[in-house]
Amino acid sequence: MKNKKLDLRNKTMKAAVFYAPHQVKLEDINIPDVGPDEVLVKVKAALTCGTDRKTYLRGHHLFNPPFVFGHEFAGDIVEVGSKVKNFKPGMRVVAANSAPCNSCFYCKNGEHSLCDSLFIQLSGAFAEYIKIPGIIVSQNLLQFPETVSYKEAALLEPLSCVVHGVEDSNIKLGDTVVINGAGPIGLMFLQVIKLKGARVIITDLHEERLRLASKLGAYKTIKVSKVQNVVEEVKKYTEDNRGADVAIEAVGLPQVWEQTISMVRKGGTVNLFGGCKTGTKVSIDTSLIHYSQINIKGAFHHTPGQVKRALNLICNKVINVDSLITDELPLSEISTIIELMLAHKGIKIAVIP
Ligand SMILES: [Zn+2]
Ligand SMILES: [Zn+2]
Repeated sequence: MKNKKLDLRNKTMKAAVFYAPHQVKLEDINIPDVGPDEVLVKVKAALTCGTDRKTYLRGHHLFNPPFVFGHEFAGDIVEVGSKVKNFKPGMRVVAANSAPCNSCFYCKNGEHSLCDSLFIQLSGAFAEYIKIPGIIVSQNLLQFPETVSYKEAALLEPLSCVVHGVEDSNIKLGDTVVINGAGPIGLMFLQVIKLKGARVIITDLHEERLRLASKLGAYKTIKVSKVQNVVEEVKKYTEDNRGADVAIEAVGLPQVWEQTISMVRKGGTVNLFGGCKTGTKVSIDTSLIHYSQINIKGAFHHTPGQVKRALNLICNKVINVDSLITDELPLSEISTIIELMLAHKGIKIAVIP
């Protein structure tokens, strides 16, 4: 282990570095040094995500440039700090990009996804090596078996958010659920909700995504641009046109939030999962909440328990990860990767250092 450390000291690695919106450069930078409670991972596969797309376009309020781009990855441990107990070099691992503090009001109250200092976040997956901070090592760094590929494991973080969304949506056996948005998040919702014994209607603008949704077991797909009134169209596929038992928004646009709210039956649950731009507003017919008793909620991020359950889903092979990864490119082609991401081409792209 000591030797390994000497091996990597003062060595450089390739990394995609973010300088400003629209400015990401492939550079040689130093391989990070590892502190006593930290772990160094050799990245074997990373994935692109909607957050990366947004960061590329407008920056990220939690990270000051320059920083290494990307946050979804899996790889092999190459070095562990002197105080790290449960991990050793050679282990296949995946990490969530944050961990709760366990000492604020929310953590003590069991609401870890609302932790006041949750955002000791991790960035740097689009590189040959990534350093995992101690707080994540102790809570959200997980080992996975050889039966799971690095690409499959790399889906852990967004899937953990989806597990949170599904666990909070009050889905019962035999329910009809509508998901608005068939991007990576919507397609993960589809797969996890099907495990709950519900029938899924899914809407989107893109034909290609809806085809994939059908393949993954959607009961009905609706191309939004092809119908006059998407709310009425969804209701048509529910018993007596009364609306879905549960409606999920997986786009992050205020107008889609409003449509989603109108798609549930009386007493139904609406999960407005897609984060909209800060400061945006929606209007809601008050009678839906009073007379129709609909339940409206949001779900943000995940807890360490949800991260673990998401990894179980991946390891148990009940989630089709491969179909969500539509391209695979080497890190050296970072500009092509960004172009594909900006053009909404495919679902997720695997970035291989
Ligand atoms: Zn992500
Ligand atoms: Zn906390």
